[in-house]
Amino acid sequence: MSENPKFDGRRDLLKKAAGISAAIAVAGVAVTQSAKAAGMAQSAVQYQDKPKDGHRCDACALWIPGPTPTAKGKCKAVAGAIDPAGWCTLWSPKS
Ligand code: SF4
Repeated sequence: MSENPKFDGRRDLLKKAAGISAAIAVAGVAVTQSAKAAGMAQSAVQYQDKPKDGHRCDACALWIPGPTPTAKGKCKAVAGAIDPAGWCTLWSPKS
């Protein structure tokens, strides 16, 4: 037992603060990993289901084809079903 009860109180407070900080850090990592797994929101990259300036998703380096050439596929960066004729601001040509 400490001779100074004020000191014990501060120590407890610091321990609690450290615990809360660790919990917030863990929650932040979980949210970040969840967002990565899900991809960016289509609205965040101005996704549209039609080409822009001749640029299409099926000609993009991030395109993941669907079961047929005209079926919706996926994107390595954007969440949700993606139209092969679509486009977004992340478009970059296949090399
Ligand atoms: S990055 Fe954009 S343009 Fe490229 S496939 Fe994904 S949604 Fe389509």
